[in-house]
Amino acid sequence: MGLLDGKTALIFGVANERSIAWGIAQAFSREGAELGISYAGEALERRVRPLAAQIGCDFVEPCDVASDEQIENITAKAVERFGKVDILVHAIAFANREELSGPYYNTSRAGFHLAMDISVYSFTALAKAFQPYIPAKGALLTLTYYGSEKVTPNYNVMGVAKAALEASVRYLAYDFGRQGVRVNAISAGPVRTLAAAGVAGFKEMYQRYAEVAPLRSNITAEDVGNAAVFLCSDLASKITGEILFVDSGYNILGVAEPIE
Ligand code: NAP
Repeated sequence: MGLLDGKTALIFGVANERSIAWGIAQAFSREGAELGISYAGEALERRVRPLAAQIGCDFVEPCDVASDEQIENITAKAVERFGKVDILVHAIAFANREELSGPYYNTSRAGFHLAMDISVYSFTALAKAFQPYIPAKGALLTLTYYGSEKVTPNYNVMGVAKAALEASVRYLAYDFGRQGVRVNAISAGPVRTLAAAGVAGFKEMYQRYAEVAPLRSNITAEDVGNAAVFLCSDLASKITGEILFVDSGYNILGVAEPIE
């Protein structure tokens, strides 16, 4: 028996086989969920469709989350196909590359707005659109990073965006609590994905992480997928508004041990 048997899940943010959203899709499929996958735009279709086929998923729809119209369209299509959506996963973030290096104070007004729109508001916009179709025992999940709490050089406006995203998780958890739906986030350690490649110095940070984290290892999209199964399953039925770290314990460190 799968932990997600009988549940329908819609996952936003699969770009390729390295995406955290793909790790979540594979874990959800293994646990018996009926899946729908959404990707950003036509350019990704060639990569995403074959991946979806590997797990027997044929609901594969584009949605640029900057567009209310596209969010409305995918909501209508998902409801027509599945009737309800028990689980909604938001694994989307974007900031201009030039905002992800050097001092934070160089962030432009337009770059700030863009990062907040795609990486923060889109979670609220999806929650609003799907709210009438998420039944009791449903779950919403988003992805965040520790740069929301502590300074990670170069992460800059994304750190500020993740702080706002985590606050959104708490407000949405309060709103959705009335209908018995839970809202949580996973704070993942670094994973080598397309989005991560845009942050200056990521490669060095990734290597150092495995040397100093309590578990002395990097995490994988599969690790995130397994934690996502727990948070979106009935096993987590009284957990809402939480940020769960999947980071080999890195966040508990005060000072990292010097490397010999
Ligand atoms: P990824 O594979 O590049 O996924 C990011 C996704 O966001 C892509 O599918 C991207 O599509 C999509 N996206 C960007 N703008 C969009 C838009 N306007 N509409 C719809 N989708 C859009 O990278 P990832 O690392 O798995 O990122 C997933 C989530 O995990 C993000 O929230 C990220 O901040 C978070 N996270 C990542 C790490 C890490 O180290 N990788 C750590 C902690 C948290 P395009 O490729 O077309 O832009």
